[in-house]
Amino acid sequence: MKIKEVIQYLEQLAPLGLQESYDNAGLIVGDANNEITKVLVSLDCTEAIIEEAVDKGCNLIISHHPIIFQGLKKINGKNYVERTVIKAIEHKIALYAIHTNLDNITGGVNSKIADKLGLVNQAILEPKKNVLRKMVVFVPRSHVEDVRQALFDAGAGKIGKHYDQCSFNTAGYGTFRPLLGAEPTIGEIGLQERVEETRIEVIYARSVERKVLLALYEAHPYEEVAYDLFDLQNTAGEMGAGMIGNLTEPMDELEFLAYLKENLKLKVIRHTALLGKKVSRVAVCGGAGGFLLGAAKRSGADFFVTADYKYHEFFDAENEIVIADTGHFESEQFTQELLYDIITKKFPNFATLTTEIDTNPIKYYS
Ligand SMILES: [Zn+2]
Repeated sequence: MKIKEVIQYLEQLAPLGLQESYDNAGLIVGDANNEITKVLVSLDCTEAIIEEAVDKGCNLIISHHPIIFQGLKKINGKNYVERTVIKAIEHKIALYAIHTNLDNITGGVNSKIADKLGLVNQAILEPKKNVLRKMVVFVPRSHVEDVRQALFDAGAGKIGKHYDQCSFNTAGYGTFRPLLGAEPTIGEIGLQERVEETRIEVIYARSVERKVLLALYEAHPYEEVAYDLFDLQNTAGEMGAGMIGNLTEPMDELEFLAYLKENLKLKVIRHTALLGKKVSRVAVCGGAGGFLLGAAKRSGADFFVTADYKYHEFFDAENEIVIADTGHFESEQFTQELLYDIITKKFPNFATLTTEIDTNPIKYYS
């Protein structure tokens, strides 16, 4: 099996278009046409991880964090990023990162954390804006079924988690006059033509637009396809940052802290003042989630479980919510398990291993 087949599958689940602007998810090093020997899954990609891949015969490393964020002008090994890249190239190991695109989907990093905390009625904490577009296309009656199906097959027409093949169809007629040089499917040069057409409307995620357009051109019979594309203001409920959910039974705050420590395997939790309330609603965001504090408060969360909080940011809790900082690595450690499950379920034909190395650069002294 080729590396690109795994990549295709991962990007179907977590399209690269869903990554944040600062991110660098995708194939970072290597040739997607190479055959896979074994896959190593990790949170970070470091020199030690490359060595582990060499030792275990893996030629593809799938990590959550990309080893390269910014452009490298020289690659001569003066820091760990350059040394990791050099080592990967020397050993013909491909490096693939699935980062904020995996944060921004239902079933991604934050769903995993919410699952670990046993949260029910899970929903995206801050649904993503500007990810949906709409296509309106005019199709002669004879080709309506084919064109509509082709659009669906390319990923258009999905609304929410539980509906696909959604479209709206209006009957009417179109007019056109083929000019000199045209090769019309219907009609003659110089004469106005009237054709019974259907106006098909479908929405789709921006990340599949190329596929949808290619499918449209492939299935539509006209030489010049008439269609309109629109940006939508709608948020996509199943895509976005963080998760919110409820505990099955409300807990006291101290009880919840102990539960959090146990379930996320934490050594320590930094948190803001307890409010003397029961905890029933919990917002989570793996990694640096401070940008979601407002959304966590608005969604009625009693606790916001995240990481990478700085001193002054803790004041923003304002006795409206309890912020619990679990540590970046700790909050995202289950991403390895998530990736392992995603890959092994779909591809049982090659071995996938989870790293045995603890890449957390932060140590605790107590
Ligand atoms: Zn992270």
